[in-house]
Amino acid sequence: MFKKIFIFTLCSLALYASQRDFSFHKMQGEPNAPTLLVIGGVHGDEPGGYFAPVLMLKHYDIKKGSVYVVPNLNFDSIVEHRRGKYGDMNRKFADIQANDPDFRHVERIKELITLPEVAFVSNLHDGRGFYRHKWESAIFNPSAWGQSYIIDQHKIENVEFGNLDEITANMESILNKDLHENHHTFNVKNTETKEVDEAMQRSLTYYAVTNQKPAIAVETSKNITELDLKVIYQLRSFEALMQVMGIEYTKNIELTRDDVQKSLSEYGTIKLNDKFTIELSDTKFATRFVPMKKEDNIIEFSHPLGSVIKRDKYYDIQIGHLRVGTIYPQYFDFNCDVNSAKLDIDGEVKEIKFGEIVDVQNNFNVLSQKGIRVNVIGFVTKNKVSQDDITVKKGDIIERFAMDNQNKTFRIEFYDGNSFCGMIGVRFQ
Ligand SMILES: [Zn+2]
Repeated sequence: MFKKIFIFTLCSLALYASQRDFSFHKMQGEPNAPTLLVIGGVHGDEPGGYFAPVLMLKHYDIKKGSVYVVPNLNFDSIVEHRRGKYGDMNRKFADIQANDPDFRHVERIKELITLPEVAFVSNLHDGRGFYRHKWESAIFNPSAWGQSYIIDQHKIENVEFGNLDEITANMESILNKDLHENHHTFNVKNTETKEVDEAMQRSLTYYAVTNQKPAIAVETSKNITELDLKVIYQLRSFEALMQVMGIEYTKNIELTRDDVQKSLSEYGTIKLNDKFTIELSDTKFATRFVPMKKEDNIIEFSHPLGSVIKRDKYYDIQIGHLRVGTIYPQYFDFNCDVNSAKLDIDGEVKEIKFGEIVDVQNNFNVLSQKGIRVNVIGFVTKNKVSQDDITVKKGDIIERFAMDNQNKTFRIEFYDGNSFCGMIGVRFQ
């Protein structure tokens, strides 16, 4: 399910790229309802704000109206789990220098915010404490931000959905009917930006509002430490907002802690140069002897928050700020024109593209190709350089060479002389 739904979210980046670009996804239904733009990750240390959009993309199907999603606006900061690697991006919307590392991203998101069809903007955060209209304690007070819907002003005149106060009051009443803990109550916070809040005049939502685009910030609380709970509140707020706007949807997830935790722990796949695939959720933490180029590797994740960081002798694989694995490369030339191989799998011959992982019940046999050397990693043969035209059963391969913790998935690699051609994964059932 994960792979199928995420196929449209594939994004790639050059390994050495700094300043990672955010991704932009459109979920479109019947056009007879408005378009909502959801923006996650303007602050890189607010995981509720950037994991919730991932679950929107994965589990929601928009039937009427549209939802545009940017899950990772400030991607470099997310990777380092910092509020703003280059300073606070959410204070750069009034003016920004062209040499600011955030410049390209701020300008591009401004273009998306002002797209003619965008009727409403929702900017997702994790704020500190719990916002209350009156001072109750150091955590529950008017200067806290958590568990609130932030508006810059009561309304924007003569604009559809400009009644920000009513819309957020509506969302608040929907959310507060069902709270995990009583003190998780949502409240609406009006920063009265134009009159009293000079800092907020440089924010994303105020940029939207001054461009006649209704916008709110949705804040869960940093004091709620369970990621799944924050994400549940973000998704319920998303649903409440769609309800108010008349956007219709179906979803294939229940917003229970178990289901959301399960979804959050699915990391999808990483594909290297379209020839080598690792399934990240159940992988052994370190994957060794991974054929890579010295430079210009193409890395594709099925997860929108996937990134790779080059270290001295290996690469860290991250999903958001979470380090989920490492790759130890072995450098090869890639001068090989072969892109697939024929395998006899349980008695049926199939042509398999390199980079794919296939299911095997009992055994497989790689059919020989002229000039191509086959290496089944962890399978030992005497006096045979290329391990083709041999029937291989699961018990024939040394378990510690499996890619996954359950010791089910193994690598078949293909070489032309000193060049790497590709791999096929075989997953025993
Ligand atoms: Zn924030």
